[in-house]
Amino acid sequence: MTHGKTVLILGGGIGGIVAATRMRQMLPREHRVVLVERESRHVFAPSFLWMMIGQRSVDQISRPVAALAKRGIELIQGTIECIDPAARTIKVDGKELSGDYVVIALGADLAPETIPGLAQAGHNFYTLSGAASLCDARLSLRSGRIVVLVSAMPFKCPGAPNEAAMLLECDCRQRGVRDRVNIDLFTAEPGPMPVAGSVVSGALREMIESKGIGYHPNHAVTAVDPKQRRISFANGATADFDLLAYIPPHRAPQVVRDAGLCADGGWVPVNRGTLETKFPGIYAIGDVTGIMLTPINKPLPKAGVFAHNEAEVVAHNIARAITGKGAEWRFTGDGECFLESGDGRAAFGSGNFYADPAPQIRLRQPSMMLHLGKVAYEKYWLFRWF
Ligand SMILES: Cc1cc2nc3c(=O)[nH]c(=O)nc-3n(C[C@H](O)[C@H](O)[C@H](O)COP(=O)(O)OP(=O)(O)OC[C@H]3O[C@@H](n4cnc5c(N)ncnc54)[C@H](O)[C@@H]3O)c2cc1C
Repeated sequence: MTHGKTVLILGGGIGGIVAATRMRQMLPREHRVVLVERESRHVFAPSFLWMMIGQRSVDQISRPVAALAKRGIELIQGTIECIDPAARTIKVDGKELSGDYVVIALGADLAPETIPGLAQAGHNFYTLSGAASLCDARLSLRSGRIVVLVSAMPFKCPGAPNEAAMLLECDCRQRGVRDRVNIDLFTAEPGPMPVAGSVVSGALREMIESKGIGYHPNHAVTAVDPKQRRISFANGATADFDLLAYIPPHRAPQVVRDAGLCADGGWVPVNRGTLETKFPGIYAIGDVTGIMLTPINKPLPKAGVFAHNEAEVVAHNIARAITGKGAEWRFTGDGECFLESGDGRAAFGSGNFYADPAPQIRLRQPSMMLHLGKVAYEKYWLFRWF
């Protein structure tokens, strides 16, 4: 057995928390597990959807990152300014750290500023502050048009815009204003959750439209006029709104791009089974990665379930490399997600995204049980890892 190794985990979101916790469980104490995270609180992003309709508070969906230290994880709160993958060193607030293994779990940056007018015009419900401001704004909307907008692909959690539209529709009914409010979803995608295949995508579209929500695929936004409250799209169409709930363009964090870790598509290419990058000992997991599903020529969606499953694989394999115990694990492309549909119900999509010739995904129709499953998962996550 080798002694005194250091594993650096960059980013304490879903992937980083799982990787650090699992690694700490598997590695003897002479090895260091160091987690670097800039935020002091971890916020469970899937719960933003409940927060934006007033069903969650900040305290209910967040936990102090410092709680991870009690498990023996060395926590550094700071901003990673530089990554040198060849040297396996990083710089955090001016201080250099080096590791024998590095796991990059820095997620995706949100870039609303890349679309003129977008940030001034609406509510970015992919952030805590945007979910909170949308929650307030929706209360004063008693008539008019709500637009849910997916600015660009790829974006994390392909189910989320559909859930947002259905939850806002339900909220309007519950507030007694539905007959005076139109709801439309404009998206750059060809349909809902296109990677899941035409059957699942079609069923989801039907579910959305059956609620009287207008669904508008293939609409890539080019600009938003906050004064006129008008969106312009690349296909020449425009759409007016009274309340805009948007998902901004995503891109790999600057520090990752500067490190030369990204490929042409803008994300970090990895071995799809082991999550190793082209640099030995440097792994990347979760939203920061770009994993192409070659048979369908589409990327693996960005989702917490994949960040989680990938983290388990990488933690196991690094611990194995250090201790010499166990067999190699591989990420298999399995994943699932709950899809809130309003009225205390949720659907459930699950399957294998690495299946050949195409992902094999099944959609279970909405039920109260599945909604309770989603609530239980939220509680489990915040209890299990903190
Ligand atoms: C509204 C919403 C609903 C969602 N619903 C679901 C769902 O139902 N199911 C599902 O599977 N997924 C869902 N997701 C997606 C899921 O949250 C992400 O895919 C997941 O968080 C990705 O995990 P990650 O570890 O790759 O990145 P993240 O969880 O984003 O973690 C990245 C971490 O890195 C830190 N960081 C970034 N840059 C730096 C730096 N320079 N220095 C230090 N720290 C840094 C960040 O602060 C962050 O904590 C949802 C997302 C949203 C927004």
